[in-house]
Amino acid sequence: MTDIDDLLEANQAYTADHHYVADARPTRHLAVVTCMDARIDVFAVLGLQAGDAHVIRNAGGRVTADVLRSLALSSHALGTDTVVVMQHTKCGLSGVTEEQLQALTGAGIEFLAIDNHSAAVQADVDLIVDTPYLSPLTTIAGVIYDIETGQIEVAVRRQRGR
Ligand code: ZN
Repeated sequence: MTDIDDLLEANQAYTADHHYVADARPTRHLAVVTCMDARIDVFAVLGLQAGDAHVIRNAGGRVTADVLRSLALSSHALGTDTVVVMQHTKCGLSGVTEEQLQALTGAGIEFLAIDNHSAAVQADVDLIVDTPYLSPLTTIAGVIYDIETGQIEVAVRRQRGR
């Protein structure tokens, strides 16, 4: 179990080096949708700094209704025009069925299990492309991050006019 006091102590140390970024609009005009997997250091993987990008995370890095909600605000209110959906190998959502995940959790909800990584990321990119209110997002990429090598493979890349 994590001791919350350890987190508070770490925060005290952090404030000494903290740099305030006044502008909430991502300087790289970028939003990244990725998995909550604890092994993915999104900023390091993509060479990003605080202030550069929106990072939207959930189980699997799947494009859910809440991701669409976040992207609507990201693009319309905060100026992003590029989105990268980054799913990854050895994801907890792959190699399992919806039924297994429902039995594990006791939750009768859709978990968006991943049967095929490139098909899943392709479907999620299509969902963004096919959502009319996300028209400010003109560059959309779907990539697979290899959790073992740290390398990214592009599965799909879409470019469109506004
Ligand atoms: Zn994952």
